Amino acid sequence: MQASTNLLEFDLDGLAAFCERLGEKRFRATQLFRWIHQRGASDFAQMSDLAKSLRGKLASCAHVSALPVITQNISQDGTIKWLFDVGAGDAVEAVFIPEDDRGTLCISSQAGCAVGCRFCSTGHQGFSRNLTTGEIVAQLWFAEHFLRRHLGTEERVISNVVMMGMGEPLQNYTQLVPALRTMLDDHGYGLSRRRVTVSTSGVVPMMDRLGADCAVALAVSLHAPNDALRDKLVPLNRKYPLDELMSACQRYLAHAPRDFITFEYCMLDGVNDQPEHARELIALIERYRTDGVWCKLNLIPFNPFPASGLLRSKPQQVTAFAKLLSDAGLVTTVRKTRGDDIDAACGQLAGDVKDRTRVVQRIALQRTVPLQPAVAPHEA
Ligand code: SAH
Ligand code: SF4
Repeated sequence: MQASTNLLEFDLDGLAAFCERLGEKRFRATQLFRWIHQRGASDFAQMSDLAKSLRGKLASCAHVSALPVITQNISQDGTIKWLFDVGAGDAVEAVFIPEDDRGTLCISSQAGCAVGCRFCSTGHQGFSRNLTTGEIVAQLWFAEHFLRRHLGTEERVISNVVMMGMGEPLQNYTQLVPALRTMLDDHGYGLSRRRVTVSTSGVVPMMDRLGADCAVALAVSLHAPNDALRDKLVPLNRKYPLDELMSACQRYLAHAPRDFITFEYCMLDGVNDQPEHARELIALIERYRTDGVWCKLNLIPFNPFPASGLLRSKPQQVTAFAKLLSDAGLVTTVRKTRGDDIDAACGQLAGDVKDRTRVVQRIALQRTVPLQPAVAPHEA
């Protein structure tokens, strides 16, 4: 018997090739793609403008399936966190962050991560596996259509997607790119390139490929102003040191949908948050400036977890650091933490991917607890 294919695995070109194998023209694939991504349909019988014969064919060899939801938590501030089951004891998370003028979904690209950053709980858990395109897209498909039903709207709810959940997206490049294309496609989610952000710890060759293949907004996790410190915090720096990384950022600017790159800098008490680090960071950025503003700094207060042995910088330290950068002319923001009450902040995502027993126990425990009352995110 032919295995059934999850159609979330395909961008529009992939779906067209699939339809062609069924003897169908490309415009049928476009119709199907719109039903799936724009209308959230999964039942072929519902797709009234497709010929009955095609609906029958699809039902026999394809399906449209979300990932099973293990838990859903809604924060007081309207942030929603989903934990999805990706099989074999692995789980990944997506977080929806509502703001006045936009709705951002933060999604995962891998179960675990092989980069192993010192301050990241995903990194501490190690690498389990790459997500498939369908598993990456399923997070958006589910969240968007869940939110529309939840809010009783047919309007788009998610306006921005950030690849800042679990995993290093540029170490899962082959599966990532069709997922990004589905997000950008006018027949899919129609998101602008400026509103889809890939965050990377600095996989230099793949930054160049992304610029050429699918230039979306780029965030680079810098975290340190010199190689000695960055080697310790982000071990990938030993392979792609700062000089190579900063040069790759400059090359990316030629393709970027915005005229700047965002540098993320996680503020760690006494480790990278001193005035001398700020001065070194300013000098580093200055060295690679060609003209005008070419980057923005986003300071992220560290979200502590016990195994890290690290502490969050004190608020006055963050403010002082931000002031030094701003005074030097660098556009600097400090990230607000959201969803604190449901552990939805960066680096706190889906614990225990390796510790399968605990995931299973937690699932059993949480399934007995009813979902929290629905809060309309935009009202929160
Ligand atoms: N692997 C990619 C994307 C996922 S991590 C990357 O590293 O860029 C998304 C962001 O969360 C990164 O900037 C990362 O450095 C940051 N982050 C990870 N753990 C964190 C923690 N405990 N506290 C604050 N930010 C963290
Ligand atoms: Fe991986 Fe990003 Fe975490 Fe580093 S910060 S371990 S690259 S997910």
